[in-house]
Amino acid sequence: MILVMKNNISDAELGSVVQEIENAGLHTHISKGEEVTIVGLVGDKSKIDVTSLEANPSVEKVLQVTESYKLANKKFHPDPTGFAVKNTYIGPGTMTVMSGPCAVESEEQLLTIARAVKAEGATILRGGAYKPRTSPYSFQGLEEDGLRYMQTASKETGLATICEVTSAHAVESAYKYVDMLQVGARNMQNFELLKEVGKTNMPVLLKRGLCATIDEWLNAAEYIMAGGNEKVALCERGIRTYETSTRNTLDLSAVCVLKERTHLPVIVDPSHATGVRAYVEPLAKAAIACGADGLMIEVHNDPAHALSDGPQSLDFDQFHSVMTDLKPYISLANRTLA
Ligand code: PEP
Ligand code: MN
Repeated sequence: MILVMKNNISDAELGSVVQEIENAGLHTHISKGEEVTIVGLVGDKSKIDVTSLEANPSVEKVLQVTESYKLANKKFHPDPTGFAVKNTYIGPGTMTVMSGPCAVESEEQLLTIARAVKAEGATILRGGAYKPRTSPYSFQGLEEDGLRYMQTASKETGLATICEVTSAHAVESAYKYVDMLQVGARNMQNFELLKEVGKTNMPVLLKRGLCATIDEWLNAAEYIMAGGNEKVALCERGIRTYETSTRNTLDLSAVCVLKERTHLPVIVDPSHATGVRAYVEPLAKAAIACGADGLMIEVHNDPAHALSDGPQSLDFDQFHSVMTDLKPYISLANRTLA
């Protein structure tokens, strides 16, 4: 349920409505927009007297929110959300580029890539230290050493950093070293992990599950937000379809649907969506046109010898050319590189 408040009510009047709701045992979520102030109610609605709220002189109208996700819902928060990640930003007006290798392979490799992606305008360095691989015999990541290298690269370049977390233990470690946590596609509905990242105050990139509907994805975001962490960005990274020419099928319509249903920022990852480096640039352009707030692009110093995801990784020259070609599209979308 949401309360649309009357224009020009005082803070005291707003406070008294909030108090009445919280006294009944529900939580409130206040969104003060340019046009209206909205109070979202989270909890057991049967505990509250709706007629009394409707009669309250500070309340313009009471609306039911039928979707099961509330905090992630645009009805709760009509203006788009943005948040800082270290010294960069994800949200309206900017295009945030997160780039780096699929996996952190060594300190030297990461530093070389960090310098290269920074030079092209990326502001967040990505790199997996815990890799959820399909085969248990594939490279699993450098774990805490990888996180340390991320921290070193961040100190040297000033880039913010993002790492995937695959367990509660990884959350605890990553928290010490990086600036943003990534929940990968395979863990989108790992509810215990979502609750763990929800307990932190660190920005989270929540990737879409391989076969997840948009509704399931938004409910996964709600798990994180319900824990008190509202800094969530959603990442479309392709879904499984019958098509085998690409690794996954990039669902760009999801960007448009999300922009209608949620205030959370949306990032598009054309690298994992296609698995083919040649398709990264055209789909990045399309993502910008659809309203994406950022891009995740895998870059490697030597893709042919990458320990994971080489075929979709761009080398430095290719990344330079992609970023150069994307710049006019970013301006056309009325955004600036973060
Ligand atoms: C990744 O970003 O390296 C990754 C494994 O992505 P996804 O969870 O989307 O497969
Ligand atoms: Mn990868």
